[in-house]
Amino acid sequence: WRMKVIYADKLDVVGHLAAAVNHEINNPLTTIRGLIQLVKEDPGLTVEKEQTFLQLALEEVDKVNHIIKDYLTYARPYPTTNEVFQLDEVLHNSINIVRPLAEMEDALIVMGDTPACCLMGDPKQLVQALVNLLKNSINAVKKGGNIELKVKVKNKECYIYIIDNGIGMDKALQKRLGEPYFTTTSRGTGLGLMVVYRIVDSMKGEIKIDSRQGVGTKVLLKLPIL
Ligand code: ADP
Repeated sequence: WRMKVIYADKLDVVGHLAAAVNHEINNPLTTIRGLIQLVKEDPGLTVEKEQTFLQLALEEVDKVNHIIKDYLTYARPYPTTNEVFQLDEVLHNSINIVRPLAEMEDALIVMGDTPACCLMGDPKQLVQALVNLLKNSINAVKKGGNIELKVKVKNKECYIYIIDNGIGMDKALQKRLGEPYFTTTSRGTGLGLMVVYRIVDSMKGEIKIDSRQGVGTKVLLKLPIL
């Protein structure tokens, strides 16, 4: 019975991947193809029109790039590894990946001392989850905002906190978190938190998001340790 559940869960991951590829990659690719064809085949096109079409094509390429980053870069959804890894290494890797974005947005990421702890699972998946969460915080804070990364260990569990002083979310928005394609930003894919929830679930962990509009957001990831 258990095997069946695991199998169904993996199929579900593949299903979501297929949906994501269709929805987010195929559509922009079709548009890009059309735009390039227009520029190539219409001899009467003005320079301005040509520029507009090329700009649109570039924006669509960026969209494809975003979805690949949110969904596929650090962790392939399937297959995954199951290994013992150190939490602080994963935290440092995650911060390094988002650092350029944080610097661009003038957001400061602060990490306190991390107690040593070992986790079991796919470290790349956890990096993906943390990157998605940190990116959300970076997008939420205004210039000069702060993002704090804190870890506590208690009763065979680690508590990873990501706290930002960004725009926060009202109750209605919080209810929709994790819904595929739900986004409030023009550059977002609305897949980030769905992927986070899935990864946390696969690691037998829990996630809690507390937020207040205009004050900030506090995310808690609770994961079992060895
Ligand atoms: P995306 O980041 O592509 O929009 P997500 O699923 O990661 O997709 O997030 C969905 C939405 O949740 C975001 O568009 C944003 O409105 C809101 N959100 C997520 N994290 C935060 C945060 N730390 N602060 C404020 N809003 C957030």
